[in-house]
Amino acid sequence: MTSRREHGTVTPDEQLQRWAVGDPVCPNTAGECCPDFSCCRPKLLWPEEKRRSFVQADQRTREAMLVGALGALSADAGLRAHVIGNHEPNRPPPTSRTPPPRRGRRP
Ligand SMILES: [Zn+2]
Repeated sequence: MTSRREHGTVTPDEQLQRWAVGDPVCPNTAGECCPDFSCCRPKLLWPEEKRRSFVQADQRTREAMLVGALGALSADAGLRAHVIGNHEPNRPPPTSRTPPPRRGRRP
């Protein structure tokens, strides 16, 4: 079973463990970077404490931390961090959920 793609040789789990101890490598077998992208941009490396808490965090917490990492990556890449801020992918656009205008104000 040597079905290797153009991906790396470390499994996501190995990658996470190595990254946690300060040895970020990428890509992993899924073709992914480290959570903080420090494998590609060393200066984005999270403090060890934060890395350890990521490893131990549940999926929701991890996703929240990844959003922050994406913002840092975008900023570092010279892009405006549109990932965070105005756009919230999990929500429908405002037009589809705009409440009817209320005029409760009386003179
Ligand atoms: Zn990388």
